[in-house]
Amino acid sequence: MPLMSTENFADLKNRRVDLHSHTKCSDGGLTPEELIERAVNFQIDVLAITDHDTTAALDIAKAYIVEKNHPIKLIDGIEISTAWQGFEIHIVGLNIDKTSAELKQLIHEQQEARENRALAMGEKLAKCGFDNIYDKAKAFAGDGSITRAHFAKVLYQQGDVSKMQSAFDKYIGKGKRAYVKPTWCSIEHAIEVIHQAGGTAVMAHPVRYDLSTKWLRRLVVQFKEASGDGLEIVLPQMNNDQRRLMLSFCLEYDLHASMGSDFHYPSKWSDLGRNLVMPEGVSPIWQLWH
Ligand code: AMP
Ligand code: MN
Ligand code: MN
Ligand code: MN
Repeated sequence: MPLMSTENFADLKNRRVDLHSHTKCSDGGLTPEELIERAVNFQIDVLAITDHDTTAALDIAKAYIVEKNHPIKLIDGIEISTAWQGFEIHIVGLNIDKTSAELKQLIHEQQEARENRALAMGEKLAKCGFDNIYDKAKAFAGDGSITRAHFAKVLYQQGDVSKMQSAFDKYIGKGKRAYVKPTWCSIEHAIEVIHQAGGTAVMAHPVRYDLSTKWLRRLVVQFKEASGDGLEIVLPQMNNDQRRLMLSFCLEYDLHASMGSDFHYPSKWSDLGRNLVMPEGVSPIWQLWH
């Protein structure tokens, strides 16, 4: 049964929901239309598109859904990069008003930060012996958000690294030779702007930041103090210890729970909506959407 309006959000428990995905408008492999087509084939009922620091895919995806009369509910989303204690923390905004002036301003600033970092990364990579990487990464990114994933793709396709991950491990990951410290906004600002745009603010993939439990707790406390709404506690490939810890953070700090695949392109390890089950005992993020 298709979801027709937001009134049905209370019933999402038995729906296939994926609240984190990417398109070619940032570092995803599929166009917005291809992503929607895949989601419909996978019988996803509710899909959030959450590209890095851009909302460019949303209108395209929406128009495609209407054109095809597809039975899928699109949630307007964004994944905002923030800087916190030397780490890059991602804050997902869900159900945002993409026409919000404050949101548009933040997107503008983040895009500028992306462009500047990309140029600086190109210069550092030149010193590592790789020429013109910025131009090639820019060509991959096209009109979309330029990300480190595009740089990794260039190095991989040229045969400079044996897999994309090695580009991060050797050159562009934190602390490596061609790493450029980004100038992202703060967690507080990202949450504020998401709220100004009428959205809910979710900390993306808390278990992927490589933080000790003590530091992760600090991060969650600060996120909560900044009026963050939820934690993305359901993602593919988590172990039981991680599941338990995330569940306990939600309960202890009265945060809602979100879930998403962080789909970028089809792979063996994860896909849209796969392995996503909301645990009992937490308040799902969609309860905030009336
Ligand atoms: P950026 O937002 O420009 O820093 O690009 C980061 C993106 O690169 C992430 O969203 C991932 O999709 C991808 N990525 C892949 N491997 C890594 C890694 N080891 N560290 C950070 N990002 C990675
Ligand atoms: Mn990405
Ligand atoms: Mn992320
Ligand atoms: Mn993501």
